[in-house]
Amino acid sequence: MRALQYTTFGQPPEIVDVEKPVPGPGQVLVRVTAAGICHSDEFVMSLPEEVYRGAGYPLPLTLGHEGAGTVAELGEGVTEFAVGDAVAVYGPWGCGHCHRCAEGKENYCANATAEGIFPPGLGAPGAMAEYLLVDDPRHLIPLDGLDPVENVSLTDAGLTPYHAIKQSAAKLGAGTYAVVIGVGGLGHVGVRILKAITGATVIALDVSEDKLALAKEVGADHTLLSNEDAIAAVREITGGLGADAVFDFVGANPTMAMATGMASVEADVTIVGIGGGTMQLAFQQVPFDAAVRMPYWGSRAELMEVLDLARRGQIGVEVERFSLEDGPEAYRRLHEGSIRGRAVLVP
Ligand code: NAD
Ligand code: ZN
Repeated sequence: MRALQYTTFGQPPEIVDVEKPVPGPGQVLVRVTAAGICHSDEFVMSLPEEVYRGAGYPLPLTLGHEGAGTVAELGEGVTEFAVGDAVAVYGPWGCGHCHRCAEGKENYCANATAEGIFPPGLGAPGAMAEYLLVDDPRHLIPLDGLDPVENVSLTDAGLTPYHAIKQSAAKLGAGTYAVVIGVGGLGHVGVRILKAITGATVIALDVSEDKLALAKEVGADHTLLSNEDAIAAVREITGGLGADAVFDFVGANPTMAMATGMASVEADVTIVGIGGGTMQLAFQQVPFDAAVRMPYWGSRAELMEVLDLARRGQIGVEVERFSLEDGPEAYRRLHEGSIRGRAVLVP
């Protein structure tokens, strides 16, 4: 079968031919109908060789940690699904038996690292291929009528912001303000989730006017260029108080400094982007009683909630479609910052 693999350090991924996997006992083979492209893929492919190897990533690596498809073959003993069922893949695989996994929070599994369990596309062979081997049926959620291409990115670009925002939802009642920094794949869904599940007025920031136009389209109340004037502009919009929650989907030095600068007393500052930034934690740098959090992905139950929001039409993803063969071009477009919403490969 064809797969899009990262094969050579420092080089773009390429289409290769690999063996079609065979599901062992308890596993499920999924015929991929859609696979989303995330900035984290680019982050992984930009790692120096020793860091990449140190993190346990194999080379070659089939990319794709946002996957959807139809069940193609069931391994021995799998009864939860039937061949042909349309499913979304929960990506942050855990051991399934530790305390956090029991809560559905496999993104924070206590044993994944020790047991060498990796998410598809981020260690295990990913969804940018004709078929994806899924290690356990609990990592499949029925799409139940959702279009795979339109919704595949909810498994990360939806789930990650949802997990981040849900933890701050109690602080985001009517009359409050939330800031979204970076209106790309995750950020534009983040704006929609804020509008769907909180009462906050949403202020979106980006360096690109096109992304700010997208932010408006998906419901942002205010849009601002992300520059040295942005902190003052947020202070003005919020009556001098600052935002009750700031979600930084970039995570670089300038955005992390902005994030604390535009937060209010008792705010939640959530850094989702892995942009290599560090943050000054000091009195006068961070508002009193503000909390800073760096979440990773989300829980299985939260993915079910995200898909429910989509089924009710309350959230959705802006998608640009590419063929599997055009995957390298899609990554090039992501790198130049010209993808509107999320790029999705359709094998
Ligand atoms: P993306 O490329 O689709 O979007 C990034 C957006 O940020 C773009 O719109 C870009 O114009 C904007 N941007 C860049 N610099 C900016 C600045 N200085 N100020 C404001 N906006 C700026 O990326 P994505 O796929 O949405 O991923 C976003 C980040 O989140 C990446 O760092 C990715 O690795 C990370 N990520 C983290 C998790 C997690 O679990 N914590 C999960 C998925 C992705
Ligand atoms: Zn676990």
